[in-house]
Amino acid sequence: MEGKRPKFHSYYCFICARSDLEVQNMYCFPRNKNKAQIWLDNTNMKANASALSSRSRICNLHFGPECFANSFQLNRNAIPTLAIPIILDAAACGEYNDLNNFSIILFI
Ligand SMILES: [Zn+2]
Repeated sequence: MEGKRPKFHSYYCFICARSDLEVQNMYCFPRNKNKAQIWLDNTNMKANASALSSRSRICNLHFGPECFANSFQLNRNAIPTLAIPIILDAAACGEYNDLNNFSIILFI
């Protein structure tokens, strides 16, 4: 049972902390850390790309309509530009463990 997770609420957006139940889609960050850093910088996330894990996700709310090839799929060179504020009740979620990044954003 080690590592077993609930079927739902599996992913939280690294930027705004919304869960995959609250948004339409979640996307992986680029494996290339330089690209991932651009994504973080563009969403005003004061975090280093090295803080990202394989489970880190970004939700569709941060991508403008020009980023989508269709209703779900991002264009190959899509870059998120929308810095949607985080939701505060993320702090109540035990599964989310990037809260150090949140406190920085909260006090900007
Ligand atoms: Zn988000």
